[in-house]
Amino acid sequence: MEAKTHIVLVSIPVLSHQVSLLEFAKQLIHLYKNSFHVTCIIPTISNSPSIASKPFFDTLPSSIQCIFLPPINFDDLKNEVLLESQVQISVFKSMPYVFETLRSISTNSNLVALIVDGFAHEAHKFAKELSILSYTYFPGSAMVLSMCLYFSKLDKIITCEYKDHPTPIEIPGCISLHGRDLPDSVQDRSNLAYNLFHHRSQQLHQADGIIINSFHELESETFDAISQNGPYGPNVYPVGPIIQTRRNIKNQACESVLWLDNQPPNSVIYISFGSGGTHSQDQINELALGLELSKYKFLWVNWRQPNDKASASYLSNDEVDPLHFLPLGFLERTKGQGFVMCGWAPQVEVLKHDAIGAFLTHCGWNSILESIVHGVSMIAWPLFAEQRSNAELMTNGLRIAMRPKYDSKGIVVKEEVVNVIKGVMESEEIGRRMKELQKFANCAMMEDGSSMKTFSMLALKWKSLGKSM
Ligand code: UDP
Repeated sequence: MEAKTHIVLVSIPVLSHQVSLLEFAKQLIHLYKNSFHVTCIIPTISNSPSIASKPFFDTLPSSIQCIFLPPINFDDLKNEVLLESQVQISVFKSMPYVFETLRSISTNSNLVALIVDGFAHEAHKFAKELSILSYTYFPGSAMVLSMCLYFSKLDKIITCEYKDHPTPIEIPGCISLHGRDLPDSVQDRSNLAYNLFHHRSQQLHQADGIIINSFHELESETFDAISQNGPYGPNVYPVGPIIQTRRNIKNQACESVLWLDNQPPNSVIYISFGSGGTHSQDQINELALGLELSKYKFLWVNWRQPNDKASASYLSNDEVDPLHFLPLGFLERTKGQGFVMCGWAPQVEVLKHDAIGAFLTHCGWNSILESIVHGVSMIAWPLFAEQRSNAELMTNGLRIAMRPKYDSKGIVVKEEVVNVIKGVMESEEIGRRMKELQKFANCAMMEDGSSMKTFSMLALKWKSLGKSM
């Protein structure tokens, strides 16, 4: 029997990035069953979240093997270091193990290509040494990709802090953005995160191509601008929307779906801030009171300890009893109106459910794609990283979401919570546009759809390289 073509992935210690990349690999294995073998090398940190990740890794097909590298300890990093820098540094420190693993794989298999997360860009140089193709996997929007590809110019054109820039920031093919809506990493030029972001962006040019989890119909002007600016952009391959496909597990998570089964169609707002988003105690109170006041049904995934730093729980396992942090009497008063979940939600199944009418999301890219695939209008409540840029794309760009306003203390007060919930639940226009996009999203992944054609083109290229080895 012919040896399978081997593809190696290099991920990072962030679950949503791992899931997106591995879903890409699952698709490859699903479509070309006997042709490929995939190994995913995963740098880890001592306290990676495990409750959520274990069922996912346990159900991967046998043609996908994961190698978890020894945990990197970064206790030496100060607490105030931005999440993105923590991730970047842990990945840097793992690189010797990545290369060792790669070298051993390459001597024993038909290795043709390396696909690496943008944070693991150093791995591209190993691909050059091994004379194999290398790609960056970009699990974000084309808008953020365009920003990265254009960043060296932006860095020169604008000399003040972006948030202080008097006019909107223009990025090729994108809606204008206020400087404060650019990613966290670039908000302070003197912060280590700024240089790491800049460096990461420059490294995008090192790869043979960028595989991006978005689709042409969603961000056509941005994709066109990227390809028209050839000298500053490498080959870009949109293959999305790729979302989680794992079926649900039998545990407490099912309770939420059972609860949804008893609710009328389009009646429930689903609230989740991703795998680690947190709020201050004051903000939790206002959100809770706003939900109550709105009278709308809600399913709220709330299992993080309050923290003023929005990304504080991202790399930790501080699962707590959320009931302690809700306003006094809230649960009793909202019995029948809402359900508070204190664990990992089966998000894709929730979004798929008829009862869901809107999604209040932190605007992580995976959550956005999952919402679009299931045609659920959004309330865009970004917290950190590039989520504010995503929120602008959803509201001003695609007009499939509303974004709440903060008061002078940086809080979304309960009246504003009611305002955006009503606004989205009652807007026919947002709903109509969302359904249109849903259609485009599903078409892109059909056999002759734009993303699937791109996907097949890459797979066939790798397959033929594997054959010729
Ligand atoms: N997710 C989930 N259950 C939860 C929280 C998150 O299944 O309770 C999944 C969600 O479906 C998405 C991912 O975790 O696929 C979160 O990724 P996203 O890019 O939206 O945000 P991040 O976690 O990276 O901030």
